[in-house]
Amino acid sequence: MPELTLEEKLESELTEEEIERFQIEKVNMEQLIRKVCDILVEHESAGMLQNNLWKKLKLSDMTGSRLALKLERMGTITREKLLENGRWTYKLILKKTPISTQSIEDAPCLVCKVEQKCTLDGDISPRTCPYLEDWVVSMIKKPRFK
Ligand code: SF4
Repeated sequence: MPELTLEEKLESELTEEEIERFQIEKVNMEQLIRKVCDILVEHESAGMLQNNLWKKLKLSDMTGSRLALKLERMGTITREKLLENGRWTYKLILKKTPISTQSIEDAPCLVCKVEQKCTLDGDISPRTCPYLEDWVVSMIKKPRFK
């Protein structure tokens, strides 16, 4: 029987809930996932060997494997098993970038007094709203990481 990869062992030992809820102590997971996405997006559909990604993020193999399983369950990445220098590993490919709640927390619509009257085709509309336009421009200028 071929040797199981670390991920296959983890999948047989952990429940789906344990995989999905994986957190690294004292680490902002949302920010870490965003970093993963930023790195993977540069590799487009060619993907990146997970060992190289863990090295870049200074994560151990175990932590990286747990993170990869979580990201796959979230629908953020796909994993392709492949043989590299005689060992099985995975290539990670970005599927979709998760939306961060941090990215909309300053949105003017969340505190807007006329939000009830705001419609796409009305007099008050996101198409013509100066507050929304200012906010979008400020978001574009903002660096992604503090
Ligand atoms: S688009 Fe402008 S007017 Fe409409 S809810 Fe947002 S801030 Fe308010």
